[in-house]
Formats: sequence, structure tokens, C-alpha cells
Amino acid sequence: MKIHEYQAKEILKKYGIPIQDGVVITELSELQAALDHVEKELNSKQFVVKAQIHAGGRGLGGGVKFSPDRAKAEENAKNILGMTLKTHQTGPDGQLVRKIMITEAIDIAKEYYVAITLDRAKGKNVIMASTEGGMEIEEVAAKSPEKILKAWIEPGFGLQAFQARQLGFGLGLEGEQLKQFSKILAKLYTCFLQTDAEIAEINPLVVTDQGNVLALDAKFNFDGNALYRQKEILEFRDIHEEDPTEVEAAKFNLNYVKLEGNVGCMVNGAGLAMGTMDIIKFKGGEPANFLDVGGGANVETVKNGFRIILSDPNVKAVLINIFGGIVRCDRVANGIVEAVKELDLNVPVVVRLAGTNAELAKEILASSGVAIIPADGLADAAEKVVAAATGGQ
Ligand code: GDP
Ligand code: MN
Repeated sequence: MKIHEYQAKEILKKYGIPIQDGVVITELSELQAALDHVEKELNSKQFVVKAQIHAGGRGLGGGVKFSPDRAKAEENAKNILGMTLKTHQTGPDGQLVRKIMITEAIDIAKEYYVAITLDRAKGKNVIMASTEGGMEIEEVAAKSPEKILKAWIEPGFGLQAFQARQLGFGLGLEGEQLKQFSKILAKLYTCFLQTDAEIAEINPLVVTDQGNVLALDAKFNFDGNALYRQKEILEFRDIHEEDPTEVEAAKFNLNYVKLEGNVGCMVNGAGLAMGTMDIIKFKGGEPANFLDVGGGANVETVKNGFRIILSDPNVKAVLINIFGGIVRCDRVANGIVEAVKELDLNVPVVVRLAGTNAELAKEILASSGVAIIPADGLADAAEKVVAAATGGQ
């Protein structure tokens, strides 16, 4: 689960990490009070107006504006609040800006990048640090990977002081800044562990003209499976920022991830779902989604799954690929028949059912009168659905 910058900064603040502070507003009526707060409480005569959306790259997209005086801040706030902000992470439609943060302006001497995440290959958390702060780190990783310094944390020992110092030295920090940097890393690591974060990123971490080190922007992604024990983090959830079909699917306990292709997939089990996507690609198609209906596929789950797949206008054909282990294929077949009758289906549906009661399921489908393309085996199913999707029916 992702959160907004202002929420990430609240968390950092709680852990004692210095931040570029400010006030978040949702309406222009709150603007004057926000500007007053920044002027009087934070002692800043200059402001930064920052769009709050989950995507990164807001600065380049025009969603972060340095404002040298109050009048300019007002103008920027009016332009940014309510705008549709496009960044390389929002997709072509952009994202509506519902909240803005009015912050103090910082005199930046140098920008750095710091992040903590799990290195699955090494089975350890890794701290990454770079002098290329403010930039997109993927670009740095692709063009000059040597500029990303890494330190792996032994789980039993935790972050060691020498590791923090080594990273700091590597960035060229010394003296007071090195001390502040090391403290910030230690706090960020504690925060990362205690919040069940998958990634905690500060980009940029800055050294100010006055020699202080602070977080100018921060991003977190939290482990969805740990949210049950992270009540405070869960409060930060903003479903406006999430894909609406994914939110809808989660209500029915369906694991749905929207993708860019045109072949809708309904599969039980994550492994089979991955295999199905692979074989669709192998046969020249592109999956429109990942959908795992789970172990208990029944009439309701099949119907809900169908509804969610078909709400994506890109879907030109659907492949249902169910392996009957615990789930019985005849039940799934009944679900398919009901769903097709109820949902006024206008795309071809290819069905491959294997396992428990598969023969009975085939009879149900054949005698139902609904237009379904039966398939035998994975390869046959994939070929048929790719042909149907490209056939333009
Ligand atoms: P992002 O583009 O979504 O990552 O948004 P950031 O919050 O990281 O802001 C983008 C860039 O705006 C930063 O890398 C800074 O260069 C600049 N910026 C943001 N706040 C300030 C500030 O207080 N002072 C100055 N000088 N620049 C700022
Ligand atoms: Mn940033």
C-alpha cells in the first residue's frame, strides 16, 4: 500500500527524522491559514506548493512549484489543486490532484538519495544511497549503477554504525553532516522495520545551505499482508489513488491486477494464473489482467470475476482456466453459465476446465446453450483466446 508525501513525512517526523515541513489542504479556503502557518510557525517567507498524488516525478510534471512570495504561492496553489497531473508514473490519463501540501522553502546545497528495501536474492534488507538525489533512481540504476552505494543488513545484528558511516563517506559527507546522516539512517531503518514497509525512500535527502540534513520528499510502500497489524498505517489509505477495479476486486477477495493487454484471464491459483499469462504471451497475445479467483471458486466468485474483467474496455476475449483440485469444475461451469446469461456478454469466452468433475462440467457448458469456446489443454486454450481477441469480434 502506498501513501502520500505528507503522510510519509508524518511518519518520518514521528521517528525523529527532520523534514521539510508544511500543511496539507484540500480546499482553497484553507490556503491563507496554511500560508500563515508556514510564515509564522515555520519561519519561511518563501513556499513550495506540492501536489499530493501517489505517483512520483511530480516536479517534472509541474506538480511541485517553488514560490518566492505569498502571491506566487497563491497562484501556484490555485493552478495545482484540481489539476490533472501527468508524470511517468501516472499513465497517460494522469491523476487528479485532490490535496496539496504548502511547505517551507529550503535552501538546498546538495540533494541525495536514500532508500531501504528487501533484497530478495540476498535475503537481507539493503540500504541504497546515492549522490544523484532528486533524479529518478531507475535512470541512475540504468545509466550509472556505480553511483548507487549499497549496504546489506545482517538480520540478527541490525544496521551497524560503521555501515551508516561508510555510506556517508561514500557520499562525500563529513563532520556534522555525516553525524546527522548516520542518525537519520538508523532512525529510518527502525521505521522501516516497525512499519512493515516494503520500501522506505527519501528522495531527495538534502543538505541545506545552513548545513542541516533533512528529508525533502519521502515515499513508502507497505506490505499489504501486514496491514492487519498496522492500524495507523492503514488509516493513511487513499483509495482515490488506487485502481478502481482493483479496489472492487479486493472487496470480493479476488486477487486482481490490471495490465495493458486485451485478453482477460480468470484463473484459480496464483501459479496457474502466472502460467496462463505466460502461455498467452507465448502464443502472441497480451493479458489484460492477472486474476486469481482463489481456492473457493463458486458461482458468486465467477460472476464477480467476470464483472471485473469486463469492466475493462480493452478486453476483447476472456480465457477461463480453472484446475479443479479442491474446487469442483461442475460448480465453476454453473457459475460461468449463470454469469454469461446475466451479464450480457459481448466478447468471446474460451474455457478450459481440468480436474475434479471436468467431464460433468463440459456437459453442463455444452448443453447450456451459451456461446462458449471449449478448449482442451493450455496450449489449445491460449491459441483459441488469442485468435478470438485478434479476430476483432
Ligand atoms: P517529486 O518530483 O515527486 O519527486 O517531488 P519532490 O518533492 O522530490 O520535489 C521535486 C524537486 O523539487 C526536488 O528534487 C527539489 O529539487 C525541488 N524542491 C522541492 N522543494 C524544494 C525547496 O524547498 N527548495 C528548493 N530549492 N527546491 C525544492
Ligand atoms: Mn522526490
